Amino acid sequence: MILLDGKATSNQLKEEIAASVKKLKLQGKKTPHLAAILVGTDGASMTYVNSKVKACERVGFNSTLIELPSETTEEQLLNEIDLLNKDVDIDGFIVQLPLPKHIDEQKVLMAVNPDKDVDGFHPVNVGKMTLDLPCFLPATPYGILELLERYNVETSGKNVVIIGRSHIVGRPMSILMSQKRKAGNATVTVAHSRTKNLKELCLQADIIVAALGIPEFLTGDMVKEGVTIIDVGITRVDDATKKRGYRLAGDVHFESVSKKAAFITPVPGGVGPMTIAMLLQNTLLACQRN
Ligand code: NAD
Repeated sequence: MILLDGKATSNQLKEEIAASVKKLKLQGKKTPHLAAILVGTDGASMTYVNSKVKACERVGFNSTLIELPSETTEEQLLNEIDLLNKDVDIDGFIVQLPLPKHIDEQKVLMAVNPDKDVDGFHPVNVGKMTLDLPCFLPATPYGILELLERYNVETSGKNVVIIGRSHIVGRPMSILMSQKRKAGNATVTVAHSRTKNLKELCLQADIIVAALGIPEFLTGDMVKEGVTIIDVGITRVDDATKKRGYRLAGDVHFESVSKKAAFITPVPGGVGPMTIAMLLQNTLLACQRN
């Protein structure tokens, strides 16, 4: 079994990005600048945003964190987005999800200038991705492609089962892996909460991407020998033995599945760090395009 080490791979990517930034600076060009808007005080969201800001510092980007209270109205948030859209120093920005219930997420994502949409969530970028045109790829699927590519995992002609059809992971993953591209050319099946024969499908899969958000859902008896496993899930599970009171669990029962897998991502240290690295990659791209 080979561990698809997202931590090591993302560190390597960050070094590559840092080298590009150094070069830009030496040439007297603009330093990439990423901004993030965080609404409210959700613990997981704060952790994610802080990791993104830290990652910016590490590669030499400028970063701006805009923290807004949970009572922020939709109109106030749209105004902040408008300011970032117009700010020529900001190359790209993200609005950390989920947003408080009184704010229409779709409306907010639509307000982001597609040229600064480094999360790749705007319909213009989603449409371009679907047509295989240059665009910002959503960071999590992009990170998974990069990981598969860097570990030379063969995907061409393989049966891929993606569990989950969300707009940010499952759906784009299914589109990208079925396209004519590196880490693509696969025969893709998208499974979701209404899928009836999931175990049967998984047992035929050469590659499984688990993105459903149910801890340790995929177990050893559901996979075949030699399978490649990408575990996207991150759920905080209560754990009194940990100082912080919880542990992070993936969607895969690592112990039983890893015994049969040829390649597998750990949680933590798999897809998560790759997502952050690809956000930086998209920001660098946005800056170079500017
Ligand atoms: P989501 O909640 O939006 O979607 C879950 C999907 O799983 C749905 O499409 C649903 O149909 C499907 N599903 C639910 N129960 C199922 C079942 N029993 N069988 C088959 N399918 C089922 O989730 P999301 O936003 O895509 O996130 C999924 C997980 O990935 C979460 O744990 C999230 O925290 C994690 N995540 C991690 C990263 C990362 O960087 N590592 C990024 C995004 C999301």
